[in-house]
This record gives sequence, C-alpha cells and structure tokens, in this order.
Amino acid sequence: MALHSKMQDPWTSSSQQDLEEDTLSSRIQAIRQQLGARLLILGHHYQQEKAIQYADLRGDSILLARQAVQNRTAQYIVFLGVRFMAETADIVTSPNQAVVLPDPQAGCMMADMASGHQVRECWSMIESRFNQQFIPVTYVNSSADVKAFCGETGGLTCTSSSAEKAFRWVLDQGKRVLFLPDEHLGRNTGARVGIKLDEMAIWDRNRHQLLGSANPKLILWNGYCPIHEQFTADNAKQLRQRHSGIGVMVHPECPHSTITEADVSGSTETIIKHIQDSSPGSAWGIGTETNLVKRLAQHHPDKTIVSLNEEVGPCPDMMKTAPWKLLWCLEGLVKGEIRNQVRVKPEIAKWARVAIQRMLDVGC
Ligand code: SF4
Repeated sequence: MALHSKMQDPWTSSSQQDLEEDTLSSRIQAIRQQLGARLLILGHHYQQEKAIQYADLRGDSILLARQAVQNRTAQYIVFLGVRFMAETADIVTSPNQAVVLPDPQAGCMMADMASGHQVRECWSMIESRFNQQFIPVTYVNSSADVKAFCGETGGLTCTSSSAEKAFRWVLDQGKRVLFLPDEHLGRNTGARVGIKLDEMAIWDRNRHQLLGSANPKLILWNGYCPIHEQFTADNAKQLRQRHSGIGVMVHPECPHSTITEADVSGSTETIIKHIQDSSPGSAWGIGTETNLVKRLAQHHPDKTIVSLNEEVGPCPDMMKTAPWKLLWCLEGLVKGEIRNQVRVKPEIAKWARVAIQRMLDVGC
C-alpha cells in the first residue's frame, strides 16, 4: 500500500484520548507486533514513564540518533522526545525511513531561543568585528537550521559530553568559539578548557548586543534550559545540610555556580552510569529532568536518590508525548498514513549533516 504523509493535530480528530489505559496499552502492543521490525520506537530518558514504557530503546538524543542510523530495517522511527531530536534522526537516517513525532508541538524551550535567522545576524556582526577568528559550535539541542548554519560556516555540533573536545578542536586551530544556544553549557565547557570567565562575552539575542569582554575567546549565546537553570548552588548547600553525606550530581546545562558546588557533573548518560556504579547505601541529590530522577530512584532502591530541587517540575515539552498520541500515530501507519512526520528541508539537512559529520570526525 502506498503511504502518504500528514501533519495532523490529533486533538481535533482522535477518540484515542478517551481510552482506558489497559485498552491503549493493548492496542499499542498489538500494532508493535503487527509492524514488527518495520517499527522502531525510541524513548528519551526525560520522557515520562507512561510513554517511555513503549520504547524499544532508551537513551539521550545522540545515542538514539545513532541507534536510528544503525537500524536500517525500520521503516518508521517514532521518537518519544522533542522536535530537535526527531529532526536529528531525520537528518541522519536514510530517505526511505520516516521519522514521526507523536506531538508536533513538543519543541524545546532552549532550542527555540536561537533561530537560524537570529544566529546569522549575530554571525555577521562577529565576522565584521573579529575578522573570521571565530568558529561556531552548536549543542545538539538546537534546530536543524542552526546546525545547518554551523555546517555552512565551518563549525560543528557537539553533545554535553563532547563539548570539551569540540572546543579544543576550535582552539587548537588558533580560533575562538561562538557557542549556541546554551549559555550555561558554553560557560561550563569554556571554564573546563581553561578560558577565564572574563575572557567570555555574551550575545544578548533580544538586544542584539555583545556584553562582557570586548576581546573574547568565547562568545556565549544567551539561551538556556528553563528546567536545568532552576538547580542552584544554594539548593546543593541546603540539601547537604538536610542530608549529611549526600553527593550532588548535576547536568552541565545547570548554571556555573551550581556546577562549581556539585561533586559530579556530566551528561544524562554519565549521570545514569554514575548512579549504577555508586555503592549501595549512597545518597545523591540530582540536578536534571525529574522524570529521569524519579526513574533512577525506582530502579535503585538500595540508594537514596532525590531531586536537587523538589520544586522543579518535569520538562513540559517532554510531557506532551501522551500514549494516546503515540497510538494515534501508530494507527495511522497501519492505515497507510504517516501522521506527524518530521521532515527537514533537503538544503538544511545537507548542511546540518556536515556539522554532525564534523562532530563525528573530531571524535566527539
Ligand atoms: S529539558 Fe530543557 S533542554 Fe531538554 S527538552 Fe526540555 S527544555 Fe529542552
């Protein structure tokens, strides 16, 4: 049967949202069986439990994109995550594989803080003022268009665990870094590679101004993750007062003062591994997305695992992927309709692929 693709809003057309949990579950499982190896469901670690339970594979965004590349038999890749992750999967998979995002509104507040247009505007100021001394590096948590900008201008993408390598690659060429879109990850990485705080400048995306050092080695785009930004150094100090001996582990999207106060900082995969390897009876306050923290606590009952700040809620974009939306997309596939397919325009995909490939070539 020939498939056709539709970008639809399930809210207006679906009865799946009224289904009982058991019915939803059995219908999803039946379609998974029916489609077999033609279907691959990928779940990001920040995804809520009631959705991620249907994932064939779990991981962070880049690990999942790698899984999608390696799996050539899957015709449909359903991403239980947010838009930039699905875009990355579409960019790196083959043209005969379709990537589906169950809720087309599941974006990322940080990625949305840098559009391709804004970044190009900033770049023309940098080029005219600093005479081609900068190379752009974008965190993978960015739109396909921002990745394409980096590919076109000699830059690359990086993950939170490979940002340091990407910075060194730029600095070893005698160049300076424009880092997009996460100010905190950029500052934390800059400090790790020996750039002093007063050698950094901030590009204020709203005022179109460069603030801070007049001759910076690192320019930070002033985007941020509203979830990770809420974990503070004070949270760490207060938690240690309440729980004697507790360790503090945070994601590098947290502010620099939080990282300085923490015992461990690292990517999502690093945090998971660190908890797996820590001794029974150990106690941890974790500063990252709460769906992951809750899951870690459930999976490691021999350890005390709490959120560094219990008042921080889950990522609202991740929470948009409800199981009934997954079912709605899966039922479309069975009927011959690809609902909510994510397709990056070929010209953007071409340059974004260049930036991603450079990251892999550099060994990031
Ligand atoms: S947790 Fe932050 S970076 Fe991750 S998807 Fe949500 S807003 Fe984006």
